[in-house]
Amino acid sequence: MKIHEYQAKEIFRARGVPVPDGFACLSLAQAEEAVGKIRGGVWVVKAQIHAGGRGKGGGVKVAKSAEEARQRAREIFGMRLITPQTGAEGREVKRLLIEEGADIADELYLAMLPDRARQMPVLMASAEGGMDIEEVAAKQPEKIHKLWLQPEALPTDAEAEELAAKIGVPEGSRAAAAELMQNLARVFHETDASLVEVNPLVVCGGGEVVALDAKMNFDDNALFRRPEIAALRDADEEDPAEAEAAQHDLSYISLGGDIGCMVNGAGLAMATMDIIKLCGGEPANFLDVGGGASKEKVSAAFQLMLANPGIRAVLINIFGGIMRCDVIAEGVVAAAKEMSITVPLVVRLEGTNVEEGKRILAESGMAIIAATTMQDAAEKAVKAARG
Ligand code: GDP
Ligand code: MN
Repeated sequence: MKIHEYQAKEIFRARGVPVPDGFACLSLAQAEEAVGKIRGGVWVVKAQIHAGGRGKGGGVKVAKSAEEARQRAREIFGMRLITPQTGAEGREVKRLLIEEGADIADELYLAMLPDRARQMPVLMASAEGGMDIEEVAAKQPEKIHKLWLQPEALPTDAEAEELAAKIGVPEGSRAAAAELMQNLARVFHETDASLVEVNPLVVCGGGEVVALDAKMNFDDNALFRRPEIAALRDADEEDPAEAEAAQHDLSYISLGGDIGCMVNGAGLAMATMDIIKLCGGEPANFLDVGGGASKEKVSAAFQLMLANPGIRAVLINIFGGIMRCDVIAEGVVAAAKEMSITVPLVVRLEGTNVEEGKRILAESGMAIIAATTMQDAAEKAVKAARG
C-alpha cells in the first residue's frame, strides 16, 4: 500500500524525523486558509498523488508571496498531473500540501528498504539527491552508499555519522543527520514499511537537516497489525480493479496485456504469465484465486478480468491439490453462466478429480477451449487472443 507525502510526513514528525511545517488541504478553501498560516515568506505548493516526479510535471511550485501561493494552489488543485510515473493519462490532483519553503543548501538522497539479496534492511544514501535515483544507480552505482542493518536494528551513532559524511553532510550537521537516520530506521521498522524514501533530504543554509520529500510504501501482509496505517489508504489513488479484488480476498495486479489469467497459487500464476510471454503473448493481469476458490470468488475473478476493455482471451490454469478440479469446474461453469463471456476461454485443469472436472466442463455446453499442458494452454490462449 502507498500513502501520500503529507501522511508520510506526519509519521516522520511523530518519530523525530524533521520535516517542514505544512498543512494538508482537501479543498481550495482549506488551501487558502493554509497559505495564511505559513510563516517565513516562502511557500511551497505540492500536489498529493501516489506517484513521484511531480516536480517535473508541474506539481510542485515555490511561491514568494501569499498571493502567488494561492494562485499556484488554484492552478494545481484539480489539474491532471502527468509525471514520468503516472502514464499518459495522468492523475487528477485532489489533495495539496502547502508548506513553508526551505532554504536549500544541498539536496541529498536517503532511503530504507529491504535488500532482498542479503535478506536484510538497508539504509541507502547518496549525495545525488533531488534527481532520478534509478538513473544514478544505473550509471554511477559508486555514488550510492549502503549500510546494512539487522532486522529491527538502528544504525549506531558512528555508523550513521560515517554514512552522513560519505554523502557530503558538512561536519556541523552530521550529528543531526545521524539522528535523522536513526529515527528513519525506527519509522521503517515500526510501521512495517517496505520502502521509506526521502528525495531530497536537504541541508539548509542554517545547517538543519530536513526531509523535504517523503515516500512510504507498506507491506500489505502486515496491515492487519497496523490499523493506523491501513486507515491512511486513499482509494481514489488505487487501481479500481485491484481495490475490488481486495474486497473479495483475491490477489490481483493489473498489467498491460490482453490475456486475462485466473490461476490458483501465486507461483503457478507467475509461471503462467511467464509461459504466456514465452509464447509471444501479454498477460492482462496477475490473479491468484487462492487455495479455496469458491464459486463466488471465481465469479468475482471473472468479473474483474472481463471489466478490462483490453481483454481478448482468458486463460484459466488450475492445479487441484487441496482444491478438487470438479469443484473448480463447477465454479467456472456457474460463474460463466451468470455473466456473458464474450472472449475465448481456455481452461487447463490438472490434479485431484481432474477427469470429473473435465467432464463437467465438456458437458456444460460452453465454448471452452480445453488444454492439456501449460505450454498447450498458453499457445491456445495466445492464438485465441489474436483472433
Ligand atoms: P517529486 O518531484 O514528486 O519527487 O517532489 P519533491 O518533493 O521531491 O519536489 C521536487 C523538487 O522541488 C525538489 O527536489 C526541490 O528541488 C524542489 N522543492 C521542494 N520543496 C522545496 C522548498 O521548500 N524550497 C525550494 N527552493 N525548492 C523546493
Ligand atoms: Mn522527490
